[in-house]
Amino acid sequence: MIGIDLTGQTALVTGSTRGIGLAIAKTLHAAGAAVAVHGRSAEQAATVAGDLGGPDRAMGVAADVADPLQVAEAIGAVESALGPITILVNNAGMTRDNLLIRMSDDEWDAVLRANLTGAFHTMRAVAKGMMKRRGGRIINISSVVGIVGNKGQANYAASKAGLIGLTKAVAKEYASRNILVNCIAPGYVETEMTAALPQEASDALLGAIPLGRFGQANEVAGVVLFLASDFAKYLTGQVVAVDGGMAM
Ligand code: NAP
Repeated sequence: MIGIDLTGQTALVTGSTRGIGLAIAKTLHAAGAAVAVHGRSAEQAATVAGDLGGPDRAMGVAADVADPLQVAEAIGAVESALGPITILVNNAGMTRDNLLIRMSDDEWDAVLRANLTGAFHTMRAVAKGMMKRRGGRIINISSVVGIVGNKGQANYAASKAGLIGLTKAVAKEYASRNILVNCIAPGYVETEMTAALPQEASDALLGAIPLGRFGQANEVAGVVLFLASDFAKYLTGQVVAVDGGMAM
């Protein structure tokens, strides 16, 4: 039987207290990895980690990814407790939608800092260790919106397109050290982030999805598992669209 065994690996999944991140954390844990569950609330992260498993293979950690000092501290805590991070999943993200001419500096900055600069902070913090150990996997969760754009989401689209550029640059920078860096671009996945969509918008979106349905968080998690596995060891700098065919 062919399977994926991540025993001995340590994964940090940012923004894993709910939604897609939570599904990713559960999947990597089920494959044998030790997993750090992360969000901005320490209590929430600890509760979710407790549901996942015992302290030898699961822990909660809190940091605002926009703050480099909090990120460095959180990564130090994870590595002390669970060992060197071998898999980093940059999943933390947010939206603050508005039309361009109404978009405030705050709305722009908050989204760019969380979605793009946050991934820069975590990647920079884990890259040194991965370089020394000559190996690692970094998986960034972008979005179909970073590829095709979306009205009212200039900040979000820019952050997610930026994440694709960041992925490719770092993939080239560290390929010689066997650090593989890839991106997933999910389409519309049923989570709290998309729950607020008005019915009309939801119907219009469905019409644009060849598979005729929204995605599920575990359908993104399965692709993360693949990218973290030995089956993906010749794959770097790629963007895998998990979008029901939206952006082919
Ligand atoms: P979600 O349910 O809103 O969860 C977002 C997670 O990110 C939460 O755990 C949240 O934790 C964390 N987070 C947000 N800002 C953070 C910050 N500054 N620092 C640390 N953690 C932060 O979102 P989701 O729908 O699962 O989306 C997950 C990722 O997939 C995001 O990057 C999103 O852009 C991307 N994506 C989603 C869809 C979709 O259809 N849902 C489609 C394409 C891409 P706290 O708020 O508790 O701190």
